[in-house]
Amino acid sequence: MINNLNFEIISKDGIARNGLLHLNHGTIKTPAFMPVGTGGCVKAILKRDLEENGAQIILGNTLHLWMRPGMDIIQSHKGLHNFIQWQKPILTDSGGFQVFSLKELCKITEEGVKFASPINGSKLFLTPEKSIQIQSILNSDIVMIFDECTPYQIGSHIITMEEACDSMKLSLRWSKRSMDEFKRQENKNFIFGIVQGGFYENLREESINGLLDIGFNGYAIGGLSVGEPKEYLHQILEFISPKIPDNFPKYLMGVGTPEDIVNAVYNGVDMFDCVMPTRNARNGWLFTRYGNIKIKNSKYKNDLNNLDPTCDCYTCINFTRSYLHHLQITKEINASMLNTIHNLHFYLNMMNEIRESIHERKFDIWKKNFLEDRSSNI
Ligand SMILES: [Zn+2]
Repeated sequence: MINNLNFEIISKDGIARNGLLHLNHGTIKTPAFMPVGTGGCVKAILKRDLEENGAQIILGNTLHLWMRPGMDIIQSHKGLHNFIQWQKPILTDSGGFQVFSLKELCKITEEGVKFASPINGSKLFLTPEKSIQIQSILNSDIVMIFDECTPYQIGSHIITMEEACDSMKLSLRWSKRSMDEFKRQENKNFIFGIVQGGFYENLREESINGLLDIGFNGYAIGGLSVGEPKEYLHQILEFISPKIPDNFPKYLMGVGTPEDIVNAVYNGVDMFDCVMPTRNARNGWLFTRYGNIKIKNSKYKNDLNNLDPTCDCYTCINFTRSYLHHLQITKEINASMLNTIHNLHFYLNMMNEIRESIHERKFDIWKKNFLEDRSSNI
């Protein structure tokens, strides 16, 4: 078991908790939202604006960075932090999720996954060992194990318990190989295991027990938000979160809407990532305190209000909805930039409010008000 003195819980309100996660490039306050910077940048926002809006840690993607620019370029910069000039913590996902999203184009064996590069068609082979070697070169503060993300369904076929079981057991064997390679690399960063098992509670329990036996620095809950009915997410989360010992950081992967995040914090989750604020921003879908806005809608053409009256981001302070509507309609690059600043500010500020309310032991009332405001759609 790796020692876990690097995560401190500093206050609690019910199951929700405020923590400090001490990483090699700095300490992050949890619960934390991690903007997604797949290929070495968070799209449509500069590092300066990420920092100004309170981003503490960002995500990178093993598979994308391995394919382009390639590890020789990263090595010549002595790691991803220097290459992208982001000196705060970085978490990298292992590449598994992206490989498996290629579906019929990849072939899974016990050893690893063979697939054709979506960039140039060249044959690639990703194994747990290779993924950890890449993440060691990237010098990620948090390395994720290489696993198979079990989908909810393939076509019209809903994954059976037997299929989910085979997949979960393969992921456990790959988790062990990931940890062995992490130790072989003498990697001084953190490594997280990922709980799989689809939508079957017995398999989820077997997965977490297997991961705890190997002993990681933190535990992620994977395989959720993969096309399942919404209620399953919360059902599995309520089941699995208490089974991860409280002294470890708990990370819910790829989730989600502001409401999903608030509910997950209520269930003791500490870390989140999702493309939603950045991807939706580029499509003109904006999150506000009083519901979501599709800025392309013609009702905003003459709307002289600021985007969100409660927000003090650069976009909201300076521009009317009418101007943001115009930029979106005319497909200006600035639309993506201003929308991304706002959406990330909204998520990161929400996390700030969550942490403050937990600290003041007022999370329940904050949650109730926030969810009511969000559904009011003013
Ligand atoms: Zn704003």
